[in-house]
Amino acid sequence: MKSKQIQAIRGMNDVLPDEAQLWERFEDTVRDWLRAYGYRNLRTPILEKTDLFVRSIGEVTDIVEKEMYTFVDALNGESLALRPEGTAACVRAVIEHNLLYAGPQRLWYWGPMFRHERPQKGRFRQFHQVGVEALGFPGSDIDAEHLTMCARLWRALGIDGIELDLNTLGDAQSRARYRRRLVHYLESHERRLDADSKRRLRANPLRVLDSKNPEMAELIAGAPKLADDLDEVSLRSFEDLQELLRESGVAFRINSRLVRGLDYYNGAVYEWVCDRLGAQNAVCAGGRYDALVEQIGGKPAPACGYALGIERLLALMKDGAGRPAPGPDAYLVRQGAAAERYGARVAEQLRDGGLAVVLHCGGGNFKSQMKRADASGARYAVIVGDDEAAAGVVSVKPLREAAQQVRASVSEAIDLIKGKA
Ligand code: ATP
Ligand code: MG
Repeated sequence: MKSKQIQAIRGMNDVLPDEAQLWERFEDTVRDWLRAYGYRNLRTPILEKTDLFVRSIGEVTDIVEKEMYTFVDALNGESLALRPEGTAACVRAVIEHNLLYAGPQRLWYWGPMFRHERPQKGRFRQFHQVGVEALGFPGSDIDAEHLTMCARLWRALGIDGIELDLNTLGDAQSRARYRRRLVHYLESHERRLDADSKRRLRANPLRVLDSKNPEMAELIAGAPKLADDLDEVSLRSFEDLQELLRESGVAFRINSRLVRGLDYYNGAVYEWVCDRLGAQNAVCAGGRYDALVEQIGGKPAPACGYALGIERLLALMKDGAGRPAPGPDAYLVRQGAAAERYGARVAEQLRDGGLAVVLHCGGGNFKSQMKRADASGARYAVIVGDDEAAAGVVSVKPLREAAQQVRASVSEAIDLIKGKA
């Protein structure tokens, strides 16, 4: 009896080899880009204690209230969570390993993140982020570096039309002042609030401004502005940041409604958005989170950072991509008992010489092997029969141009395929 097929979990995607090409191109670009700015890689586990996220992201946030994959470890009763984002774990690791002892840190990480959201275009339950964090840097020079480097990445990926929305949340006191004014305003319009906003009104009123419900848009547009409550220091450093961005030629617009979904932000916050993406338009978001290190048990240290949504950036790269995937340098065709063994050895020698080689496996006649060679996208077929095996040579046939097949030693074949002959 045929067994029932098992499918992947909703909202969690496979990346098939054809599409993985684009991922690899993205990853290569990103690695070079991070190196160019002196950021170093940090890798943390995908599972963390639930408490880490509750304490850092905040109890009254979408992520902690309804999006986290949390479960009890049956072996010891501990509550664990699949990471919904990377900043908390990064900061945990920095504290745990005392990295700030050696001075300020420029770090990056990437990998899958998990949020139980409604799957739709640009929104998945397992998605991927590249995160960039700078810890121990107090000034707006590092915020400016972060935004300048994003602008460079969009260019390196060949994506245009990504725009920067910028705001500042001020210090804790200015947010408290604003919060009182906002609650007053929202309470006076309580009948017009949707269920989510009503709940947030008491627990985390700034989050009402984050609402994606179009019916809330008008009410939000009329809300008091945080800008009017900002403290001197935050205002001055926000001015600084804007000046630095102008100097680096990074365009931005001030969006006083931008409050970001997580609790830990203060000071400058931002989102990079692209209107070609539809409703899920943010490709990158971040800002300053000076209180977080202390909040999760470290010595107070200023910090800021951002995360890129890889799937959304890839969707924009696909827009203008269309570059064919490169095939291997050579496909090794082998026929006959002696040739089979000899061919496997030759393939290793070609790889020693720096070539990418696909070795034909699974037998078949010469014609069907040549078909496979062609389909592989290889530039050359390296052919060995029992003749070649006996003579210790190979035949090299160009597959992408009309040129003669030639007999050659393995080292001549390497030079020829590398284009040195
Ligand atoms: P959104 O407003 O789209 O829900 P967010 O504010 O929850 O985003 P962050 O936590 O700031 O997102 O994550 C940074 C980036 O990660 C986002 O700008 C987006 O590109 C990407 N991202 C977040 N959630 C998802 C998801 N469920 N699926 C795909 N990408 C996501
Ligand atoms: Mg979200």
